[in-house]
Amino acid sequence: MQGKLNVQTENIFPVIKKFLYSDHEIFLRELISNAVDATQKLKTLSTRGDFKGELGDLTIDVKIDSKKKTLTVSDRGIGMTADEVEKYINQIAFSGVTDFMEKYKDSHEQLIGHFGLGFYSAFMVSDKVEIFTKSWKEEPAQHWSCEGNPEFNMEEDKKADRGTDIVLHIADDCKEFLEESTILQLLKKYCRFMPVAIRFGEETVWVDSETDCDKDGKPKRVEKKQPRIINDPEPAWKKSPSSLTDEDYKKFYHELFPMNFEEPLFQIHLNVDYPFNLTGILYFPKVRKTIDPNRNKIQLYCNQVFVTDQVEGVVPDYLMLLHGVLDSPDIPLNVSRSYLQSDGNVKKISQHISKKVADKLEEMSKKKEGEEKSALEEKWDDIKIFVQYGMLTDEKFCERAMKFYLLKGVDGTYYTLDSYREKIAALQTDKDKTVCYLYASNSDEEHAYIEKAKAKGYNVLLMDSPLESHFINLLEQKIEKTRFVRVDSDTVEKLIPHDDSIPEKLSKEEKEKLQPIIEGEIDKQRFTVQLESLEESDAPMQVTQSEFMRRYREMAQTSGGGMGFYGELPESYNLVVNINHPLISRLLNETDNEKQKELVHQLTDLALLGNGLLKGEALSRFLKRSVEMI
Ligand code: ADP
Repeated sequence: MQGKLNVQTENIFPVIKKFLYSDHEIFLRELISNAVDATQKLKTLSTRGDFKGELGDLTIDVKIDSKKKTLTVSDRGIGMTADEVEKYINQIAFSGVTDFMEKYKDSHEQLIGHFGLGFYSAFMVSDKVEIFTKSWKEEPAQHWSCEGNPEFNMEEDKKADRGTDIVLHIADDCKEFLEESTILQLLKKYCRFMPVAIRFGEETVWVDSETDCDKDGKPKRVEKKQPRIINDPEPAWKKSPSSLTDEDYKKFYHELFPMNFEEPLFQIHLNVDYPFNLTGILYFPKVRKTIDPNRNKIQLYCNQVFVTDQVEGVVPDYLMLLHGVLDSPDIPLNVSRSYLQSDGNVKKISQHISKKVADKLEEMSKKKEGEEKSALEEKWDDIKIFVQYGMLTDEKFCERAMKFYLLKGVDGTYYTLDSYREKIAALQTDKDKTVCYLYASNSDEEHAYIEKAKAKGYNVLLMDSPLESHFINLLEQKIEKTRFVRVDSDTVEKLIPHDDSIPEKLSKEEKEKLQPIIEGEIDKQRFTVQLESLEESDAPMQVTQSEFMRRYREMAQTSGGGMGFYGELPESYNLVVNINHPLISRLLNETDNEKQKELVHQLTDLALLGNGLLKGEALSRFLKRSVEMI
């Protein structure tokens, strides 16, 4: 029988080919998916008792014949009768293609990420496609062929076995699909976890010899060639969590990411079937100092068929820091990405994952009996940035995380937000009833300031992630009456202002005289002189940097754009002068002009030194001057 396919365009195949040029490797996934479907359907018919014959070996075969220039996909599934070929191949599948062409004829853009062309995608790489198929029903086998134009040929065939062979006559400009390495790579990419075994080529394995022994009587190891099965039909995420050990999860992680040598910290196994269907495993990798820009570590599957590893829009931004697999038939796959983001199911799925992640972290935050540290404390340093990123970008996650977020003291102790507030409230509440959280960004560089704060009985936190300035702002909004101040942002008295002020030793006139003496000797662009009444025992001069200015500069630097103004501000400091210190009185009363100047330099240099700001030539001058003064 000969026929004409029901299409308007005279010859759409060249168009299919051109349109999908960049994506045309997906033909293999489409054909093997069909073979898997046909096999699964047969299994269902068999369990229901409709099919009573032998199932036999159901492995799908992929074969290259380089002489005939063909690539063949064979299954032992349900096959098709003549009527079914007419219905599914000539009519339905074709109308799918026509719809597709109609929809996308003006917008090439939307084609990217699209798939679902099904059987006809075979024409993207072939001059001619043949189908040899025999149904499980008692009906004659069929041979269908089509040469990339709307005419096809169909006749009875003598094929004896049940199932379908799809034979692609690969076009001259697609020769790479006749190469074993190309096909193997595609099979590994798209079919690695398909649920029916897929056989392609051969592999060499080492086995015990059945005949030869070594001198200890043990069988010799010998090479053996065997058919290569390219997939794992039962991937870990499809198994029940209770049947898997931690080792199994780790093994699967390395199977997924053979190039990632680091062990994951822990994982979440997702398993939902209502109100949508979702399975998968998400692993927490170590996130130390930077947010990994490598964002294709979550693979999206639809019933074990690889779809994409670009999951923007499917999972919230912060969750893309995780690694793993998600499998859901409920994510619409034949649509553009912008549509995906607004899809109701996708939103629900993404909220569900967020919730599961929060559940897991909350559970880990509970200390088990007899354990010194909670599981969350154990891993905290490696996942803190992840949690911060989530809290900054996902309102709901933030609400949940406020319960388990951990603050870390400079001494390494962890506190929840609530317990920390309770701990510091008594000593660290200022005169406006605001609780002041003191922190350091670097415990070495800010060592002197930390010690001063500790001497006052204050507790100091270590806040050293690259997101910290944004995160501190968030906490100040979330927890009422809270202020964060870095230990070096003011003198220790003023970090947490209380009511008790220290009497001043200098009169108003003396202060007015002192100010220009100091200002005359320093870089006024960088330093603002601030006269303050401090304890006599405090340092005569100190360098501090305003919390507000520093934090906004840092935020501008890590957010890129939007806050540009702050990022461009020069670094500026306060030079705090302790007017109660005896050396400051001496400075004021010094009559020798040269000696007075020298004293200003010496005192400011000492203050800079305490802050790690005295460097290079200035440092050499200071050393020389110190020796002379002794
Ligand atoms: P889809 O798979 O999305 O339905 P296709 O164009 O890939 O669209 O296939 C159309 C139909 O042809 C399938 O639904 C199925 O009924 C039939 N078909 C395709 N390949 C096979 C096969 N290997 N074995 C049996 N039936 C097949």
